[in-house]
Amino acid sequence: MRLGLVSHKAFEETHIPEVTRPYMEAFEHPDRIKFTREYLRNSGLLGNQNLKIFECKPAARVDIVRVHSPYLFDVVGELSRLGYGEVGASSFVVKDTFKAACLSAGGAISAVEEVNKGSVETAFALIRPPGHHAGIGHSEGMCYFNNCAISVRWLQEKKNVKRILILDLDAHACDGTSQIFYTDPTVLVLSFHEYGMEAIERGWLEEIGSGEGEGYNINVPLPLGTWGNAYLWSFENIFPEVIRSFKPEMVVVSFGFDTHYSDPVGNMNLQAEDYAKLTRMILQLGKEVCQGRVAFILEGGYSLIALPLSIAAVISTILDSEIKYFDKIREPEKIPKIVRNVTEEIQNIKKQYL
Ligand SMILES: [Zn+2]
Repeated sequence: MRLGLVSHKAFEETHIPEVTRPYMEAFEHPDRIKFTREYLRNSGLLGNQNLKIFECKPAARVDIVRVHSPYLFDVVGELSRLGYGEVGASSFVVKDTFKAACLSAGGAISAVEEVNKGSVETAFALIRPPGHHAGIGHSEGMCYFNNCAISVRWLQEKKNVKRILILDLDAHACDGTSQIFYTDPTVLVLSFHEYGMEAIERGWLEEIGSGEGEGYNINVPLPLGTWGNAYLWSFENIFPEVIRSFKPEMVVVSFGFDTHYSDPVGNMNLQAEDYAKLTRMILQLGKEVCQGRVAFILEGGYSLIALPLSIAAVISTILDSEIKYFDKIREPEKIPKIVRNVTEEIQNIKKQYL
């Protein structure tokens, strides 16, 4: 399959977190992109003849305020020029944060643009900072602008792609993305994530959207420590039915790799091979439902060892090129009852609305 890899050298050099408090913000670091690119290069994937590299451009103000309040756009810009500030919980601003955030949003737009144009069959946006916690008027959780939402609204507005499925596979609930599309039946948000640990987190089962959007926000909260096999079991029992019923024109995947067992922020137990399996399933169903129009956008993933390997698993699956996995662990075979129950609940919601 032909893959477009969208990225920019600036992600490796800008928006460097200052460790002013011994806190998790420091994990969202330029080395995430740098180490990933190096691993992709060393494993030969970057040189694959079916991989085309695209350099992203910063998103324009008009593209960002299609989703966010002008106030948020301005405050991130202003504090970034000052070189210090905080624009939301766990969202510190340093020099060039604004530049990186606009470039990151532009990367998501480029990924959906290239897939929509057909210049590649699928695309992966290797970008930072992530976006899925950023809501209409606020930044949060190391996310400043919602890259995925910005790319989806761009597709709707500029390319007349109307029905879009957002599949969020980060360890954390995509509360920002859900807020943005909560009343909108044209965008279905399906999020698999760990059961919330903090009061600030959203993503409960009963948050199903409202008004015309009722039934178009589906949360799958899985218990902390869920292993790959249980995660995949739940995914296989939900995703195919949802995508077939909703019939999107495009799928945009917010892919976070903080579900990896060695991630310092997330609490799940997936391994690289699981990401390969998820990718295979997404691509197959994408082919069946929307002519394979699938774009992947990087969200979280903070282990500098696991992140490159996990992204390589996704990219090698798309390119149909084998890589070795170095993170094999044994996992229990049994699917926990709570995972079965949650999955059943979702099937009921799906039957009622879609
Ligand atoms: Zn996350």
